[in-house]
Order: sequence, then structure tokens, then C-alpha cells
Amino acid sequence: MNWFTNRRAFRAAGHQLHDITSRHLAESRLHHIAYHDGLTDLANRHCFQERLAAAVERSRLDGDQRFAVLFLDLDRFKVVNDSLGHIAGNTLLREVAQRLVDCVRPCDLVARLGGDEFAILLDSLHEADEGRRLAQRVLETLSQPLLVNGTEVVPGASLGLTFSDLGYRTVDEVLRDADLAMYEAKAGGRGRVALFDNSMHERVAEKLALEADLRRAIGEGQLSVHFQPLYDLQPHKLSGFEALVRWTHPQRGPVSPAVFVALAEESGHIEALTDFVLDHAMAQLAQWQRSAAGTEHLVMHVNISGRDLARADLVDSVHAVLQRHAVAPGALTLEITETTLMGRLEVALPAMRRLRDSGVRFSIDDFGTGYSSLSYLSTLPIDSLKIDRSFVMGLHDQPQNVEIVRAVLMLAKSLGRKVVAEGIETAEQLATLRQLGVHVGQGYLLSRPLSAECVRNLLAIGNASTASIAA
Ligand code: C2E
Ligand code: MG
Ligand code: MG
Repeated sequence: MNWFTNRRAFRAAGHQLHDITSRHLAESRLHHIAYHDGLTDLANRHCFQERLAAAVERSRLDGDQRFAVLFLDLDRFKVVNDSLGHIAGNTLLREVAQRLVDCVRPCDLVARLGGDEFAILLDSLHEADEGRRLAQRVLETLSQPLLVNGTEVVPGASLGLTFSDLGYRTVDEVLRDADLAMYEAKAGGRGRVALFDNSMHERVAEKLALEADLRRAIGEGQLSVHFQPLYDLQPHKLSGFEALVRWTHPQRGPVSPAVFVALAEESGHIEALTDFVLDHAMAQLAQWQRSAAGTEHLVMHVNISGRDLARADLVDSVHAVLQRHAVAPGALTLEITETTLMGRLEVALPAMRRLRDSGVRFSIDDFGTGYSSLSYLSTLPIDSLKIDRSFVMGLHDQPQNVEIVRAVLMLAKSLGRKVVAEGIETAEQLATLRQLGVHVGQGYLLSRPLSAECVRNLLAIGNASTASIAA
């Protein structure tokens, strides 16, 4: 081989080497992309599932090779995303990712499974307490506030934890149970950790059965509507009703609306339920206004849910119901809970504005339990704030509740909105609320929710009465 061929061979080898290096680089880059989440650089779902599959297999072969999975869902991500924007939402997710990584041991795997869902695989676990301690650390670190766009945000999360001791055979089983436990933590009031146990499966089966029954109930007329009177407090005068849905299950008897309304929301039956209540309530109001004298001023409050606000046909169907029963739009107030509204502000506002332009009113239900920012409140198309029952309940043993009611009244006054107090049970509470200047009251003291027939009787005897009438 002469000098020339030698050089060519050397150059070719150099090229090859270069090719190999860049190919390796490209390959490892692609590998990284395939196994990592682009936003946080944590492991992604695919990577998590592979590592979990290996852990499941190891513990199947040797029960001493224990692991735990912590499933985590942020409690306020949607609120941040909707109110502060996607960039702020991304900042929050990156910060959460960093805090999680700082919490775990080097052998653990932190992954973002999608959206605001994260999971941690605790491999080579010696004792269950290690898993519980990690869960506590995660809760603590996520309860520390951070600044996003100048706004202080507490990420907060609900955590579900499960251990390999339950004898898992597949990745799906582990994830399903950790996810179930996480839902349990959310249902228990958020910001907490729930440990999976087998009774959760039974509860899910029970829930599915109830969901199927509810679907039938809506079609088969098992639902009814009761009406709880609302009173102007000064002077004392019946001003209208809140429509409250009722379900008497053929075998189980009455089911609480707190249970089945949430179920209807989750399972997509809420639209049918809302349509039923709206139609029924408007039909009743029209009938009462026609048949009893001095009832023209009566209004009807109807609760709507978060999913209703996202309906493309909400405005049209509300208008259609009003027309069908010839009810003036001003006689209908739609109640939305504060947490629902704040969580869906962007989606809700256009529909709310259109309805309000046509005369329909809005009230924020359970006010004081959510996160309304005061700057928002002044711009919202709402007519009244309904102070949550918990503040009315503690009016006499917790003096700060008087201050809260006073503050809500001042706020409402400055915004030109009315204040409604719900859950009035004692004469003392009523006297205090009246003295503070609350405009409208509702509660068992004034009247329990009534069947339509009882309302007819109430109207027949004249609405000056304050007596409670049992449903
Ligand atoms: P909400 O809208 O805050 O309704 C008030 C709840 O407080 C009603 O419970 C009512 O019966 C109860 N209540 C009224 N006065 C008192 C009182 O003095 N003391 C106590 N302890 N409770 C009182 P209900 O009927 O069980 O409804 C619970 C929740 O279910 C409602 O809370 C509302 O969020 C939801 N809901 C009820 N009907 C409907 C509906 O038709 N559609 C939707 N989307 N949600 C509904
Ligand atoms: Mg309500
Ligand atoms: Mg309420």
C-alpha cells in the first residue's frame, strides 16, 4: 500500500468513525425522545410502563423484590391553565417535575404520564413505610407556593399509592389500582394520599351499577324535582324557589343528589338531567304564576353543572325552554358553584354573557369555598352571591364567620350584586343575617324543599307565611 492509498484508507476510516459517532448521537437522541416527556424531560408513559413491567416481573419471581407506585394528579392545574394561560400552566408542570425529582431516591423513577398526571415508581422497596414517607414528602413539597406570572400558586395534588404485596401480575393492574386510590384521595377532599385497598374495586362496581340505573331513571321518569322557597329578608316575603332534583331508586330508595349529580356529570348524563330539571321547573313556575294571584314576581333558581357550561347548545336550549313555557328570562336564575365556574371560566363566559344579555340571571353557589379572585368577580356576568352553608352554620360559634358574611356583603354591594344565604336553620342565624343586611335567605328554618303539590298549597294560603311546611 503506497502513501496515497494509505491516506485514503485513513480518511475513509475517519469518515466512518464520524458517521458512527453521529449515528450513535442521533440514535441516542431518538431513544431519549421516545422515552422522555418533551416538556419536563421526565420519563414518559412508555418508559414508565417498561420499567414497571420489569419491576412486576421481578416481584413475581421473588416476593422480596418489592415496589410501590405513587399516582399523582394536580388539584389546581386546570384553574391555573384556564386563568393564567398555557405558558403559565407549562411553568407549573416543569416546577412540579423538578420538585418530584428532588423528593425521590436515585433508584426511583419519576414520570409524567400526560396532562397533569405524574407517577413515581419506587423500586427496591424495603418496607411499606418508605412509600408512605415519600408520599408525605411529595404532598409537602407540592403544598409550597410558587410564583407564576406574578401570581402565587399552590400546585397541590391528590395521591394514590399501591404496593407490590397485592401480588400484581400486569402493569395495567398496578396502574388501575394506583389510579383508583388517587380518585379516592380526590373524592376525600384533595391534597391527600389514599392507599389502595380491595374494597375500592367493590365501590367501583357499585358505582357502575348505579350509573346504569341512573341512565334508565332519567328515561323512565324516576326523577322528580322539589322546590325550596327563597325569601326576601327585609321585608320578609317569598321571592322564589330553588329547584332541587330528587331520585327515588326502585330498590335503594332515595339517593342523595350529591351522589347522583356527580355521577351524572362523570358519566355524561348530566345534560339530560339538566334539561329535565329546567323543563320541569319552568313548567311549574309558569303554572303557579298563572294559577295564583300575586305570584308574577316569583323566580326560579336552577343548578347547572360544569359540563352544562361547555355545551354548545346550552344557550339555545335555555331559550327554547323559556319560550315553550312562556316564562320571562328574568324569572330564571342559573346557579353555578364557585369552584365549577372558576375552573371553567374561559369556556363558560361566552355562554353566560349571551344568556345574561337575554335577561337570564346567574348566581354563584357555595360562595366562599372556591378561589374567586376579586378582580374577576367584578367582570363576571352574575347577579348574586350565595354564601355557602358552612359560613351560616358556624355563624354563632365561629365569630370570624360574621366577618366573612360582612365582607361578602361589602363586596357584593360595591359590585351591585345581591347576597343570598343558604342553610339557615336557627332563628338566631336568621336574625344575625337580617341584621347584617343579607338580602335573601333559604334554609330548613324557613322551609324544607317541597313537592310541587306542597308549593301549590303554600301559594294558596298566601305567601306572607313564614311557617315551614314539611315536604
Ligand atoms: P345546593 O345547590 O347548594 O343546594 C342546597 C342544598 O342544601 C340542598 O341539598 C338543600 O336541600 C340543602 N339545604 C337547604 N337548606 C338547608 C338547611 O337549612 N340545612 C341543611 N343542612 N341543608 C339545607 P340537596 O337537595 O341534597 O342538593 C345538594 C346539591 O346537589 C345541591 O347543592 C346542588 O349542588 C346539587 N343539585 C341538586 N339539584 C340539582 C340539579 O337539579 N342540578 C344540578 N346540577 N345539581 C343539583
Ligand atoms: Mg344551588
Ligand atoms: Mg349551595
